[in-house]
Amino acid sequence: MDFFLKGLEALREKNLYRERELVGEDLINLCSNDYLGLSKDGRVVETLIRCLKETKRVGSGASALVSGYTREHKELEEYLAHFKEAPRCVLFGSGYLANVGVIPSLVGEGDVIFSDQLNHASIIDGCRLSKAKVFIFKHKDYKELEELLIKLRKNYRRCLIVSDSVFSMEGDLADLKTLRKLSQEYDCILYIDDAHGTGTIGEGRGILREFKLNFFENLILMGTLSKAVGAYGAFVCAKNEVIDYLINLSRTQIFSTSLPPCLCKASPTSLKIIEENPELSLKLRQLSEKIYLRLKEFFKEVHYYKTPIIPIIVGEEGRTLKVYEFLKENGFFLRAIRYPAVPKGRARLRLTVSLAYDEEILERFFEVLLKVPFEFKI
Ligand SMILES: *Cc1c(COP(=O)(O)O)cnc(C)c1O
Repeated sequence: MDFFLKGLEALREKNLYRERELVGEDLINLCSNDYLGLSKDGRVVETLIRCLKETKRVGSGASALVSGYTREHKELEEYLAHFKEAPRCVLFGSGYLANVGVIPSLVGEGDVIFSDQLNHASIIDGCRLSKAKVFIFKHKDYKELEELLIKLRKNYRRCLIVSDSVFSMEGDLADLKTLRKLSQEYDCILYIDDAHGTGTIGEGRGILREFKLNFFENLILMGTLSKAVGAYGAFVCAKNEVIDYLINLSRTQIFSTSLPPCLCKASPTSLKIIEENPELSLKLRQLSEKIYLRLKEFFKEVHYYKTPIIPIIVGEEGRTLKVYEFLKENGFFLRAIRYPAVPKGRARLRLTVSLAYDEEILERFFEVLLKVPFEFKI
């Protein structure tokens, strides 16, 4: 039974040991996904409190198919369909649950999945659970994807192409136009995970609006309410019959309790703020650009793709931890992201920009960066 201790020791040796930390008031958090600061927005908080007072109810008590489907769930689904300009949407407990539940219901043995190399872990797990044959194409290498499609598509029954919209650890965007073309040309379902796109790109509406596209013939669009929306839960939008299919056949939909109703009530307030203030995502982009330009003065490899995810690549795990420790000692919490979230030797500080940051916080942060010992930076 000493494999627990041995396993932990092996992680420590490789500088891959992790701990959860309480990010208290004394630290400024620079790595949350609360891009618009909506998790603490008074209007959203007030909606939740009012709902709890009125309904006097927390949990939903059952899965949606049993008795856990309330008016709050229905209204949020309808709002999401409007927000995403989609035929229909269905809620899931979380983004992780959506990906591991939906993908295996779409494809199985005898089918094929083509998956971007940098897709989120929940997509990878969904693909594994499905028992379909999985081919990974190099990150955003759509030429390689097409070559794989030409060579392999005909050997399988159903085909699924799957990609993040905004890649969670890198911050770049999938090319939705090319993915649409390839998926339609080769008769594949296209599954897009818009977890980081929702609220941040396309006037806050996500990847479809960003590319000025709307096609649900073969598209299944997933998103989460836990990031820019500032709440919790996730959704999948698609054609009417696809949603009916998921309600009946997706195991994390069937065998998991639905979201607390009042949480569902809070999300539309948040989505409405995003919808009525399209300038928020523009402001977020301007702030991201400004921060990126300053970061470049301090670090050699900083990536920026007009999204609020700005990875500062430090490389070696130990050195990345040292920068992280230094920043923490100076009041800023910027988590070191290491394997398996990113490849070995590509450890990074993943700074996420939020409209909750003010000038003063940022100036203080840049002053601290000036003091980061040189040997830690490159
Ligand atoms: C965060 C994330 C998820 C998981 O969403 P949760 O609601 O936090 O479970 C799925 N996909 C991507 C790309 C993510 O970044």
